[in-house]
Amino acid sequence: MNINGKEISLKRKDELKIKIEELKKAGKRIPKLVVILVGDNQASQTYVRNKEKACEYVGMLSEVIRLDASLTEETLMNVIKGLNKDENVDGILVQLPLPQHIHEEKILDLIDSRKDVDGFHPSNVAKLLLGQDGLVPCTPQGMMVLLDEINYDLTGKEVVVVGRSNIVGKPVALLCLHKNATVTIAHSRTSNLKEVCKRADVLIAAIGQAKFFNHEYIKEGAVVLDVGMDRDENNKLCGDVDFDDVKEIASYITPVPGGVGPMTIAMLMENTLQAYTQREG
Ligand code: NAP
Repeated sequence: MNINGKEISLKRKDELKIKIEELKKAGKRIPKLVVILVGDNQASQTYVRNKEKACEYVGMLSEVIRLDASLTEETLMNVIKGLNKDENVDGILVQLPLPQHIHEEKILDLIDSRKDVDGFHPSNVAKLLLGQDGLVPCTPQGMMVLLDEINYDLTGKEVVVVGRSNIVGKPVALLCLHKNATVTIAHSRTSNLKEVCKRADVLIAAIGQAKFFNHEYIKEGAVVLDVGMDRDENNKLCGDVDFDDVKEIASYITPVPGGVGPMTIAMLMENTLQAYTQREG
């Protein structure tokens, strides 16, 4: 059965919309997200536009700071320092990737961890590891919501996460661990990947390779969450999972598009409200 991420994300955004309307009615300040976009990467521009649209939909304030790719690291750092101090800014997001001459780590570390709505700051990463409340990366958080929506209890289940990036693989593995799953993180050096995946009650595919996972990787009845945003041989958007080959074997599967993707932005909106709420006390 398909897990309809588009519908679920809309439901979450509608719930947020109501909360923001209540703030407005109570005469409170409205949460604000600031997105920094450096350079003119096409994909980044689309992502940023979608984030702006989502803010508009839920009724949050948003601002996009567009900066030239030739800017110095110091200039970018000064922009962030200003936003850290700005009392009216709740969330700061630096759209990645950054130009090569800018050190991504240095920039992400500079963002006030209370405004780090992407959940990439080391202090939020540490909190996630320790199981403490903090801002959690959006895509992994979105996958947990999808599992909740199908009433899936991870306790005692075998979860295999393929991909060990800091933004998807590692954080989603930790979230599953906190929900009492037995978690394996696989990657490009994993031996016997098919056998490892075939053990999974829940397979999380996050490698960035179009239609890589076919039926040989999937256990009968497994839940398959496909994070991939790839292009197939006809340049059509697809996932890391060969959907048509797997859909009859899996009990639940997320399509691409319309699965994990839409959840990411909905979780960004939720993180911005969380950051606002924590700062407002
Ligand atoms: P990434 O940083 O490129 O990491 C890819 C991971 O996959 C690495 O850990 C790599 O292993 C592993 N890998 C690559 N090829 C493999 C193979 N053949 N077998 C096993 N493991 C393999 O990717 P990412 O940023 O996590 O993104 C992964 C995918 O998710 C991409 O398609 C991206 O576009 C998509 N994505 C979607 C969303 C969304 O909102 N839907 C958000 C973020 C990312 P090594 O570590 O050994 O190199």
